[in-house]
Amino acid sequence: MDEERNLRNIFGEYNEISICIPCNRLDDIISEKEDIIIKNTYTCYCYSDISRPPDYFHIRSDTPHTNKTIIKELIKQKFNPECNHRYLEQIYNTGDITYEIFMGS
Ligand SMILES: [Zn+2]
Repeated sequence: MDEERNLRNIFGEYNEISICIPCNRLDDIISEKEDIIIKNTYTCYCYSDISRPPDYFHIRSDTPHTNKTIIKELIKQKFNPECNHRYLEQIYNTGDITYEIFMGS
């Protein structure tokens, strides 16, 4: 199936970010903790003149968090980098319950 259409079927119409995680990685388990914090920092050149503080997204789930469930929640919480770095490439662990998002351009 066409990857882009498949992503739209999963995540709906949301143009503020583009998902660049392959479909076969979407169900990878990221955490089995109930509460996790996802952080996005704005250290890219887009925010070199006007700085922007990090965004924090608190996500709670009684089932394991996967790339898919986390991204769905980021969309629900209206994650919008508003810069050239709108391609979500990776969600990676930085601490016990903390994760960061790698956004590419
Ligand atoms: Zn940027």
